[in-house]
Amino acid sequence: MNATQLAVEGETDAEKAFFVADLSYVLKQHQRWKANLPEIQPFYAIKCNPDPYVLRLLAALGTGFDCASMGEISHVTGLGVDPSRIIFANPCKAVSFVRNSAKAGVEMMTFDNTDELYKVARAHPSAKLVVRILTDDSKSLCKLGLKFGAPLVTVPALLAKAKELNLDVIGVSFHVGSGSYDSYAFADAVQRARAAFDMGKEAGYDFTLLDVGGGFEDSTFETTASILKDAISQHFPDREKIKIIAEPGRYYVSRAFSLAVNVIARRAPPAVEDGSQDMEVDPEQPSAMYYINDGVYGSFNCVLFDHQAPQPYVLSLNGSFHVPSSEPLQPSSVWGPTCDSIDCVCPMTRLPGSLRIGDWLGFENMGAYTICAASQFNGFQVSKVVYTAGGGPDAVAVRNALREHEGGGAGSHA
Ligand code: PLP
Repeated sequence: MNATQLAVEGETDAEKAFFVADLSYVLKQHQRWKANLPEIQPFYAIKCNPDPYVLRLLAALGTGFDCASMGEISHVTGLGVDPSRIIFANPCKAVSFVRNSAKAGVEMMTFDNTDELYKVARAHPSAKLVVRILTDDSKSLCKLGLKFGAPLVTVPALLAKAKELNLDVIGVSFHVGSGSYDSYAFADAVQRARAAFDMGKEAGYDFTLLDVGGGFEDSTFETTASILKDAISQHFPDREKIKIIAEPGRYYVSRAFSLAVNVIARRAPPAVEDGSQDMEVDPEQPSAMYYINDGVYGSFNCVLFDHQAPQPYVLSLNGSFHVPSSEPLQPSSVWGPTCDSIDCVCPMTRLPGSLRIGDWLGFENMGAYTICAASQFNGFQVSKVVYTAGGGPDAVAVRNALREHEGGGAGSHA
């Protein structure tokens, strides 16, 4: 490695934080989807994690793709995916994107306002439009309704304008909010979609597409699927001519990715720092501060943007992958590597008092809205991904990857 490379890379490869992606988990989620929602075709929301291997796998499995920009559309068509498998699911697009999507052969796109209709009439008059309606997202972590979705009262006027502009509206979409923990939000949204279908009929359209959006959670998936299926059967009993699609994002990738980070610095509890072991320490307040080599400006941007509260587990302790469960824990906080004090990954957790510089921590469920929004603020590189095809995204798989990453040892210790 020459001096320029050193200046750019800084850390040695063996120290760098890295993701472990278990692609078999993505496959399992797809099979689970097919088993529970056979009637609904998933269009993976690539914004969630545009990892090239995840995209290739899903393309091979035959999913569609929800794209939010021309960049995402090019990414997906570059994999050989036919444009008919893409929905441009961003209701407020730059006019150049609308024009270029026409050139790329992408027809399906959402809208929720009149200006967008004028734009489409000018730049892509043969588009197959989908009206995105507002639904109740009050029980979700990311309330997308603050920004998107036409309230039902506005839908008749929107459809009348579309008709006047000679545009083809083919159906209705919604999003119950990302990180939705209320499965019944889907039932309520399907009922509203039914009302929008009826408004379509009034306006002279015969809708053939229902897009139930994203917001599917791993832990509540079976319950949500069952509630959703019941609602569809109730409100769309005659649906032979209706194609139903969804735009799941985090459901597919969240648990497939784990992150391993290296402890690069530590501020020990004050009593240890100043050598006077007798100082009073509140056992419920974090006193040890650990600094790791990825933070909220990097992969942990999910703390700021996605309302997540990641919790670490210990991958190696004092250089050993054998972490005794009897090790006493102390209240600790975990911080990212930048010079900004907002860069706090975990304000309160319990970690072994013997955790040292060079040890490794792991974080699970790191596949959704992490790498895709990571920056290089302060000159820190975005953590790379290593891939596995089985073994589970658990501590064993991550430790195995770590052994390979370090070439056998568990890193250097201060
Ligand atoms: N569809 C649209 C239009 C979105 O904006 C999003 C997320 O922001 C998704 C789908 C994916 O949502 P989730 O990851 O919650 O499934």
